[in-house]
Amino acid sequence: MSIIVRFAPSPTGRLHIGNIRPALMNWLFAKKMADGKFMLRLDDTDQERSTEEYAQGIRDDLTWLGLNWDIEAKQSTRFDRYDAVVEQLKSMGRLYACYETADELERKRKRLLGRGKPPVYDRSGLNLSDSEKQAFEEQGRKPHWRFFLEDAQISWQDLIRGEQKIDASSISDPILIRADGSYLYTLPSVIDDIDFNITHVIRGEDHVTNSGAQIQIFYALGAKAPDMAHHNLLVGAQGEALSKRLGSLSIQSFREEGLEALAIASHSATIGTSHPIAPHKSITELVELFDFSKVSRAPARFDPDELRALNAKLLHETEYSQVAERLKGMGVQGEEDFWHLAKANINKLDEAKEWWQVISGPMIPQIENADFCHQAAEMLPAEPWDETTWKTWTQSVKEATGAKGKALFLPLRLAITGLGHGPELNKLLPLIGRDKVIARLAGKEI
Ligand code: GLU
Repeated sequence: MSIIVRFAPSPTGRLHIGNIRPALMNWLFAKKMADGKFMLRLDDTDQERSTEEYAQGIRDDLTWLGLNWDIEAKQSTRFDRYDAVVEQLKSMGRLYACYETADELERKRKRLLGRGKPPVYDRSGLNLSDSEKQAFEEQGRKPHWRFFLEDAQISWQDLIRGEQKIDASSISDPILIRADGSYLYTLPSVIDDIDFNITHVIRGEDHVTNSGAQIQIFYALGAKAPDMAHHNLLVGAQGEALSKRLGSLSIQSFREEGLEALAIASHSATIGTSHPIAPHKSITELVELFDFSKVSRAPARFDPDELRALNAKLLHETEYSQVAERLKGMGVQGEEDFWHLAKANINKLDEAKEWWQVISGPMIPQIENADFCHQAAEMLPAEPWDETTWKTWTQSVKEATGAKGKALFLPLRLAITGLGHGPELNKLLPLIGRDKVIARLAGKEI
């Protein structure tokens, strides 16, 4: 049997650092299993909040991260199918109409909690006579529909959490259809999982209880439930839930900030697991690493600065060939030598431009002592230059002027690069070249 998994976001917002994890886990699992397929399912039954713009944003983010999909489906195109299943469940007596308002339900909930009881729905909708229903309809109330859970222990072998047992009597019959006729994700998700032959459902542990109810829906529809894996969630620095409305944690904002897709993928694949949070050279390496047994049970704290640090580390380990095209696209003409020099001094790829500017110019030299710079310029060795040139040169400047340490190096750095910090000068010097170094030591903008 070939493996088919799905990532099922609602296109009601952009993907963020929390919900990219199930996307990545599903994708990595599909790639790890021979011939596995990855499906993108857009859960857009909430037609008021879902937009094509968000759907496109999700596609763009997945593509940028390298998470390509084999199948795409939109729930909004499948309402006929869902409606047919609803009729089936009604005729089986598994779906029943309820007329309570949100306030009434809340009062019932509070009453039960006040008596120290679990706030499980009392199934009063189930016992309504036809005339009682009619009376509600005449008041202008519309029914919402609940799935009748059989009183049984629901259990499954979770691929991350191990054996799971949920006593169905401890949860309320789930509402599948709201009073306005719209679907909650619960039923369409099961129908899609059946119709698209989904073999594994991999999602956050906030869905564990839903899974209990959904397993009964699979059975009611004569299907086998897929295997399930519920992963730990990411929380903020204070342990608070990450809401998908936190725009600053969106994949889009990290991309615009200039972080590498591979840094985000490396971080997402290792955070909350027993693997160290570390950069990985390719997504293939992440596939090799992927293992449900490594996912921790505790929530993992997400710190954006940890992601930024990992981005820098990744760049420091990146080969020129991996970024050559992007550097060229930014107007950086420096090649292999330049990259080796620049990469240790940047946190984001974009910053390579600044170092290229220092080399190619024009830049404004900072001259602290014109005589000293003039004297030093006179001593510059003839080309060709290599990495030893800096040492030979500064040695002679030191002998001639008596300057040493910072007093020797800093004025030269300020004149040659315009900056008080930066890549090693022994490597920088040959890339800038003799003519430019002489001009800059004379204070010329070049
Ligand atoms: N649309 C649901 C969500 O984003 C899907 C959950 C699932 O993977 O089944 O929570």
